[in-house]
Amino acid sequence: MLLEVTHLASHYGRIQALDDISLRVDEGELVALVGANGAGKTTLLRCLSGVQPLSGGRLFFDGVDITRMAPEKRVALGIAQVPEGRQVFGPLSVEDNLRLGAYLRRDRQIGDDLDRMYALFPVLFKKRELPAGTLSGGQQQMLAIARALMSRPRLLLLDEPSMGLAPLLVAEIFEVIAGLRGNGVTLFLVEQNAHAALALADRGYVLETGSVVMSDHGAALLADDRVKAAYLGL
Ligand code: ATP
Repeated sequence: MLLEVTHLASHYGRIQALDDISLRVDEGELVALVGANGAGKTTLLRCLSGVQPLSGGRLFFDGVDITRMAPEKRVALGIAQVPEGRQVFGPLSVEDNLRLGAYLRRDRQIGDDLDRMYALFPVLFKKRELPAGTLSGGQQQMLAIARALMSRPRLLLLDEPSMGLAPLLVAEIFEVIAGLRGNGVTLFLVEQNAHAALALADRGYVLETGSVVMSDHGAALLADDRVKAAYLGL
């Protein structure tokens, strides 16, 4: 087990956002977390990256208890997050954004990784000298993913990568995610686009008002009548 979450709870003041969440992500898996607006998806990711405190439960990464570990230490352990809304550094060049993704690495041998990213995302190579802010939404999403990969993470947390993208770009981003998984990257994908996420995922969890209400293989959830009715508009 690479990531293990046991009985996690989290509050904003007196408001309980997450209650008794238990889940796991194994090495090499793509696990999707789906749920409606406000279900608590972003809060759970914030708990995993360490910027949101837990009020109960524990987090383990590769057997190490990270429940109270500082965010930057989690990054150093290999947990990288692609934040919602992408948040690339607009005035910096595409390549400088990628370099920043490797800032916690000790070796600084990042030339190979830049090459790897440019092979994965040819459009970023073409635009490597341009300010990131000039990229389209889909390209900025690719840059955000590539930047996170520069830290050579063992686990990549993706927060709503398809949000705000035109349908064609959504399909492209999901292809990118499928490609990462083919390359052996372990992924935890948080999405409102339940159909696309569950279609790709090895396993999925359904979050409703702060609790996990279902978990199964991605295909099984896709075929489930309750999931269809609530999340797939079928
Ligand atoms: P979205 O898809 O809109 O990002 P989400 O599933 O990620 O939704 P969260 O943003 O994690 O949901 O929110 C979970 C719950 O916590 C919601 O009820 C929300 O209103 C509440 N919440 C989120 N952030 C705060 C905050 N800073 N202060 C108080 N309550 C908050």
